[in-house]
Amino acid sequence: MRSSTPAESVLTVRIDAAVIAAHYAQLNRMGGDTTNGFDRPAYSHEETRVMLYFSQCAEACGLSHRVDAIGNLIIETTSISGQWIETGSHVDTVPGGGNYDGLAGVVAGFEALKAIRHSIRTLKHGLRLRIWRGEESAAFGIASIGSRAAFGQLPPASLSMTCRGKTLADAMTDQGINPNIIEQGRPAIATDELDSINAYIELHIEQGKVLESQLREIGIVTAIRGSRRSWVSLRGTFDHSGATPMGCDYRHDCNLAMAHMHVRLDQLLQKHITDGIDLVQTIGVINSHSGMSKKLTIDNNAVSKVSGAAFFSFEVRGCKADKVAAYHEQAEKLIHQTAAEFGITAAIETFSDQSGIAALDKPLQQQISRTCDSLKLDHMLMASGAWHDAGTMAQQRRTDGNHIPVGMIFIPCRDRAIALKS
Ligand SMILES: [Zn+2]
Repeated sequence: MRSSTPAESVLTVRIDAAVIAAHYAQLNRMGGDTTNGFDRPAYSHEETRVMLYFSQCAEACGLSHRVDAIGNLIIETTSISGQWIETGSHVDTVPGGGNYDGLAGVVAGFEALKAIRHSIRTLKHGLRLRIWRGEESAAFGIASIGSRAAFGQLPPASLSMTCRGKTLADAMTDQGINPNIIEQGRPAIATDELDSINAYIELHIEQGKVLESQLREIGIVTAIRGSRRSWVSLRGTFDHSGATPMGCDYRHDCNLAMAHMHVRLDQLLQKHITDGIDLVQTIGVINSHSGMSKKLTIDNNAVSKVSGAAFFSFEVRGCKADKVAAYHEQAEKLIHQTAAEFGITAAIETFSDQSGIAALDKPLQQQISRTCDSLKLDHMLMASGAWHDAGTMAQQRRTDGNHIPVGMIFIPCRDRAIALKS
């Protein structure tokens, strides 16, 4: 069905929900189940199995498919102009994860390709779906392995990271992929191919509860948060809990200092939010991590002792790298001041720092918004709290100096958790 507006002609393409359900009837049996969740780590047989499924689907409907040197699967139409509109997402999961994270964007992208090609006999711009390997950092501690490596941006040291006792290099080899390309820092996507990408649009579940709680159907992503992660280690003095009087003159209590730090960090962040700065922070781990616990003799803490050691993870996320850095500096100062007040010492070690994407492509956001209007879908603008392969794409510059225009469409996820099993 075609309808037109004075400004542009809009093609309405319909995709039957039963087609999506039919994909999931197959996919829900690959690497887990809907009761216990899914386990498809990066470069595992389970991930490869899903990729093979989509190769077969492409084959069955006459779409071209190929695998790049990193193992990413590419499904595409032809292109008269030599230019391409791309979509993509991933099929790996965190352990016990749901079957919509990443996969929803792949299923939607595949069916959109099929439906648009069916509706328009001669496509001016080609349509391309990229199914990326290993987006989740849960397996090897690195996010977006497939997309970063495709652009030659994965550090070779990543190859020695391990997942369940196996290095990334070995996991790749097991799936028939030669890891040398990462070792040599060579991209799998040639410059010509990069230059021909006109736009990249990724659909993903929101992973938060904003759309669900505001009863919106679509989130139009304006920016993607990056993250800075650190360990904060505290050292004080182990003392007898009965014989040591209260107060900082006698006690150098790490656990108590840590509790004050957390409340003060929360207050500091709240102040930034009030000032309109997009930041979130999380203290996900306290006094429990195999490597850190040993290093800090955390086991010497006891019910009947003043704590002489403590540690916590400290993660800050924000879209603008300079705002994250400036906030981190203030947070570090606050941590050291609080430590001094309690007579203990603090050491802060940043172990990962990934810049966010300050702004996704505005014209694409407007296009998605107009499309939502024409389809009468309730939509809102929002930042993406999590990193996605779209972020890797948005970092790429073509040889004309321009970034690849990137857009993201969020759909709500029921019960929001990453581990959603519904
Ligand atoms: Zn994802």
